[in-house]
Amino acid sequence: MTNAPANQPIFRFAPSPNGALHLGHARSAILNNQAARVAGGRLLLRMEDIDRTRCSPELEQAILDDLVWLGIDFEEGIRRQSDHFASYKERLEQLSNLGLVYPSFTTRGELRRLVADVEAAGGDWPRDPDGTPHPPLSEKTRTTAERHKLIETGHPYAWRLDMKAALQRLGWKEVSWRESATPLEKPQTARFDARLWGDVVLARKDIPTSYHLAVVLDDAQQGVSHIIRGRDLYPATAIHRVLQALLALPEPIYHHHALVLDEDGRKLSKSIGSAALSAQRLGGYEPQETIALALGAKEAVKPVTLPKTYG
Ligand code: GLU
Repeated sequence: MTNAPANQPIFRFAPSPNGALHLGHARSAILNNQAARVAGGRLLLRMEDIDRTRCSPELEQAILDDLVWLGIDFEEGIRRQSDHFASYKERLEQLSNLGLVYPSFTTRGELRRLVADVEAAGGDWPRDPDGTPHPPLSEKTRTTAERHKLIETGHPYAWRLDMKAALQRLGWKEVSWRESATPLEKPQTARFDARLWGDVVLARKDIPTSYHLAVVLDDAQQGVSHIIRGRDLYPATAIHRVLQALLALPEPIYHHHALVLDEDGRKLSKSIGSAALSAQRLGGYEPQETIALALGAKEAVKPVTLPKTYG
């Protein structure tokens, strides 16, 4: 845990250096920066670089150049998730000892084919709120001996959270968290049906964590009190709350901001080659122009002001 004074709010910006930042990332970084300044808080920078095949030092450097150009005033001492694999593994084992995770051997390709067959025959395959298909139920009913054999014979696998068992253990029917309508505003209770999520992946054979596990552990480890991030992660907050409760971690306050949309109304993403901030930085834009675009594009987001009470 950090040594910050107990009441000092702690914010973070947590990009994945597996591609270039775009205006949507800029919106998150700017809102966090503003909120930290207005609230007299700290702003931490964390590189979510667990995917060692797609992340690179060059991409990380480009992110740092973008953030400095935008005037984002983050503290020195960047945390890199790739430096903490051993601690994620430990916490995964804790969940495993509670009987809440199981290895699943259906590869992404196999799952795609299973889903395509069912859907081609007019059937429905259950999916997560982010569109990822649930694993086949047969994964959950394998015997321990069968699992050991598959692991020993080198099959790839993913550790999945048994969501039903986790909710049962917590005695939760739905998941709730504190959500502010604007950064720093007094939070309201957000509710989400966590059963909409299947048994999400918490780690893989070769990477001892996933985004969901690492993000909650790091936010707790870094004492993050306020999480400001894009609305696309709103449903995932239900998973994060489940993990926080299972692992007895503190509960931050969330604000999920509107996404920056492209001209066709789609959210910006690395995969559709959305305009990179670096193109604006190197293309002669003034940072203020990019900041205005990031805050104003399509959906207006007001700059942060300090309400009478916050979190
Ligand atoms: N690393 C995630 C991303 O770049 C953000 C995670 C978060 O803010 O919780 O999309």
